[in-house]
Amino acid sequence: MSFEKLGVMKALLSAIEKLGYKNPTSIQTRAIPLVLAKSDIFATAQTGTGKTAAFGIPMLQRLRNTIATADRPLRGVILSPTRELSMQIHEDLKSYAINLKLNIAILVGGKDIESQQKILKEGVDIIIATPGRIMEHMQRGLNLKQVEIFVLDEADRMLDMGFVKEIRKIHPELPRRHQTLLFAATFSDKVRKLSRLILTKPAFIESSKRNSTVDKINQIAYMVDRERKAELLAYLIGSRNFRQVLVFTKTKASADYLVEELIKDGLKCGVIHGDKTQANRFKTLTQFKEEKIKVLVATDIASRGLDIEHLPYVINYELPSIPEDYVHRVGRTGRAGRDGEAITLLDIYDKYEIKDIERLIGMKIDKQVIEGFEPNPNIRRKDEDEVKLKSEHKRAEDKKRAKKKAPPRITAKILKTNKKRKTTKRD
Ligand code: AMP
Repeated sequence: MSFEKLGVMKALLSAIEKLGYKNPTSIQTRAIPLVLAKSDIFATAQTGTGKTAAFGIPMLQRLRNTIATADRPLRGVILSPTRELSMQIHEDLKSYAINLKLNIAILVGGKDIESQQKILKEGVDIIIATPGRIMEHMQRGLNLKQVEIFVLDEADRMLDMGFVKEIRKIHPELPRRHQTLLFAATFSDKVRKLSRLILTKPAFIESSKRNSTVDKINQIAYMVDRERKAELLAYLIGSRNFRQVLVFTKTKASADYLVEELIKDGLKCGVIHGDKTQANRFKTLTQFKEEKIKVLVATDIASRGLDIEHLPYVINYELPSIPEDYVHRVGRTGRAGRDGEAITLLDIYDKYEIKDIERLIGMKIDKQVIEGFEPNPNIRRKDEDEVKLKSEHKRAEDKKRAKKKAPPRITAKILKTNKKRKTTKRD
């Protein structure tokens, strides 16, 4: 399959070629024709599968004809959960739209709102925004009444972050006729509930096995005592000569602690978490991408949206609070079909949490011990019984829920009716 055969126009084809994309990825092959046919979409796409281009390329094609009047209307809105992901989408869209005359702007918190308003006044066709910031702009008069395409990227993450109120307020401000594209990295009940609210007869795309991690990533866990994790991490980085490694912690406090420890070991590190300013996060990320720092320690805020070319290693210093975040974390490596390795440092306290993750990804993670770092066999979890019970209860609940609900199915009939229904004046 080629991008041309999917119906992508010349101006976009030459931009894609310049980026070195030879063939469309699986999600792109399925989504591009549907978006061009104006269908609503409900897609579960793993991170790193090329999902930004899957909605971005056909969206740009659909909105290519700019309306260069004095009050140029806003016609495309992309909502994303974090500033980092918004920045990534913005960069990607700009590179695809290089031969088009579209104005694409980013509206995220941490940046001066007045200067964003000034940009909007000059006329913008597409915005990429975080839910909080777009709401602020709407309160200052941002009009969504001429929006033709509304995209929710990483909708599951937005819901986990508590943005459902914002989405519920934004949605009624859109015109009755518009196309909605909902992308979620993992499939949850919350996302399904939202999909029923905002999608009209969507085409359902499941780009690969639900909640599975990218196949090419080699996943391994090392058993170690909690207090020796930092030491083991420094040992792994040094002995295996890791060039560039992204390390995830559960909390901001442990991220700060870990960076201090690694610096003591002589490693060049940076840290990204919610307490860092946007400018600081951007600077650290740039330094990491340019390999000026070897280790980037991050909390889950950074597990989506970070796109680092050829990132070979991701290390889970601590497991995430939500099992789904494991998928997003390890998806930072092995992007666009490349090999990658995800290493998890497991202590006795992670025993049940790792099982939840293994159930989610549908495979067992190989567990090993490194000589010199063997866990102390006398250490036991204090809350063992309570946690075991909780884990079993959760598994039973998940099973019940999975039995009750089956995902919607894409049918030829749905596509046909969508084609008839969705015609806007401008097209
Ligand atoms: P995403 O899942 O959108 O974050 O994309 C992951 C990475 O794949 C990004 O670095 C994209 O530039 C890259 N990419 C997207 N589509 C393709 C393609 N068709 N061929 C090669 N690389 C791609």
